[in-house]
Amino acid sequence: LPSVSADEQNVPYQGLPGTKYERTFMMVKPDGVQRQLTGEIIKRMETKGYVLVGLKMVTPDEKLVSQHYDDLKARPFYKGLVKYMSSSGPVVAMVFQGKGVVDYGRVMIGVTDPLKSAPGTIRGDLSVDVGRNTIHGSDGTSPAQDEIALWFKPEEVADIKNCASAWIYE
Ligand code: ADP
Repeated sequence: LPSVSADEQNVPYQGLPGTKYERTFMMVKPDGVQRQLTGEIIKRMETKGYVLVGLKMVTPDEKLVSQHYDDLKARPFYKGLVKYMSSSGPVVAMVFQGKGVVDYGRVMIGVTDPLKSAPGTIRGDLSVDVGRNTIHGSDGTSPAQDEIALWFKPEEVADIKNCASAWIYE
């Protein structure tokens, strides 16, 4: 087994670009939960080599959704988006950890419009409509930190020493 210390396997995320074990916030939206795509989505992220360190099913209220999408409040679809996300049943909130997980997580998700997302991406493979695009993923390391803090208490995000790290990172 390659020699990797426990500390190297579990470097705390400092929120700095380039940090080896960074974290991102992802969320299976109500349509993804209803269509039972949660397992498929987690499987894609785990198979890549990213580690699930936070997971919960939440039925968000308008306040939480408004805070989450605060940067979009001037957009024409904002009101409908907040209503949809807060009145359609549960979402699955997740924190994934790993090298490049913020930006590469977005690559794995695809672009906002599923019909413009490449096959092989989550939205490209699993959805059709922009308002039912299955998943959210943080757009940058700073939003990732804010969103993790918004959706999770610190003690709800695990400090996992992943036993496969030495086989994923050199
Ligand atoms: P992304 O989720 O790809 O980061 P945005 O942050 O721009 O995209 O938008 C947040 C969410 O708002 C999108 O995922 C989508 O569900 C919804 N949305 C974006 N644009 C539209 C639109 N033109 N009409 C309806 N819903 C939209």
